[in-house]
Amino acid sequence: ALSDKLSRLVKEMRGQARITEANVQDMLREVRMALLEADVALPVVRDFVARVKDKALGQEVVGSLNPGQALVGIVNRELVATMGEGVSDINLAAQPPAVILMAGLQGAGKTTTTAKLAKHLVDKRKKKVLTVSGDVYRPAAIEQLKTVTKQAGAEWFPSTPDQKPLDIARAAIDYARKQYFDVLLVDTAGRLAIDEALMREIRELHAALNPVETLFVVDAMQGQDAVNTAKAFKEALPLTGIVLTKMDGDSRGGAALSVRQITGAPIKFAGVSEKIDGLEVFDAERHAGRILGMGDIVALVEQVTAGVDLQEAQKLAAKVKSGEGFDLNDFLSQIRQMKQMGGLSTLMEKMPSQLQAKAGQVDMDKAERDIRRKEGIICSMTAAERRKPEIIKATRKRRIAAGAGVQVQEVNRLLNEFEQMQGMMKKMKGGGLMKMMKRMGG
Ligand code: GDP
Ligand code: MG
Repeated sequence: ALSDKLSRLVKEMRGQARITEANVQDMLREVRMALLEADVALPVVRDFVARVKDKALGQEVVGSLNPGQALVGIVNRELVATMGEGVSDINLAAQPPAVILMAGLQGAGKTTTTAKLAKHLVDKRKKKVLTVSGDVYRPAAIEQLKTVTKQAGAEWFPSTPDQKPLDIARAAIDYARKQYFDVLLVDTAGRLAIDEALMREIRELHAALNPVETLFVVDAMQGQDAVNTAKAFKEALPLTGIVLTKMDGDSRGGAALSVRQITGAPIKFAGVSEKIDGLEVFDAERHAGRILGMGDIVALVEQVTAGVDLQEAQKLAAKVKSGEGFDLNDFLSQIRQMKQMGGLSTLMEKMPSQLQAKAGQVDMDKAERDIRRKEGIICSMTAAERRKPEIIKATRKRRIAAGAGVQVQEVNRLLNEFEQMQGMMKKMKGGGLMKMMKRMGG
């Protein structure tokens, strides 16, 4: 895969202090290929790469990174910033009923998403929600909305194929007002391709309804084609948000970047299954990871940027490798490194998904509380005690426990753990920091 080539290039790069025209050319070419491979549309890729180049040139390379790693960091941050900008829940700041208009091609997932949103608004925001279908071209579409609205626990306003969409919408809004609904979701007809009649109809609906949200529903699997659709809808309507559907499919996620950049509207939600609860708040960071597919490098870059002392970590790793002299100071230094990285849970989020799955059984909150308590105990020890834990007998234990504000048993537990860790490290040949931390977290 192309991102493999990008990874290789990143690894082969020599350490240099700055990102320059000369050292960034090959890298940028690979970034461009990786984005195209992820199905981002060409004009969007060009724009994006130009922005990244602008940001990267002349930038100092932090710590032990090479320019390639630094660049991947910049690419990742730009992806997150672009896709994550303005992400927020549905805006309901309007005189009730707040009207939400759904727009998009046929098969994009409008009807499904209407029901998913209805459920979200009923369950999470405790709203009284009405749905209505303006899809008079396909009788089955009205029935479909009726069925899924029931599943959502919302109310459905009847409409029939012989009515005009505008009349349906007006009747629904009237009913919603009289019955004190908080929200009216208006599902609309799509076509297989953009056509002028469709655009006119939805523009008229928009003008009559004055919606607080006009959501563009788009199939993530559309890849590059999503761009033309997005352009047409943006020209026709003032879009306030995007819902990307079918993210559970095998698309590489490029449509998110394309559609975000073309429409300028925030990506609010992602559809992740056909089921009524298959809707998630869009997560730009996770999505950037999917597009770039370089979780390990991104995690490394972020740790270094966050000020983790890699040299310290390497020294520690070397000690571990030789299995010698691992004392409570090293134990403490490990604990502190974990804290510097923003805690175990943030670290886990940055790891590639296979590792995340393995770590999934661990209770992160508990693990982090545990780390803080351990740190407190070691901090109550003298330098001599940390170097030679075997001198810690009953009197010292009582003093340490009092200093840390814990029971003596907790000091015992920590010393036991330390001993186990020490033994384990002697056995572990060339373990590396990640491995150590995973054991400690467990
Ligand atoms: P509409 O024509 O825009 O109203 O599209 P529909 O809501 O009828 O959806 C078209 C098809 O896509 C249906 O078979 C849905 O079940 C399916 N669908 C919609 N959203 C998702 C999603 O997020 N994931 C998956 N896997 N299927 C979806
Ligand atoms: Mg539909």
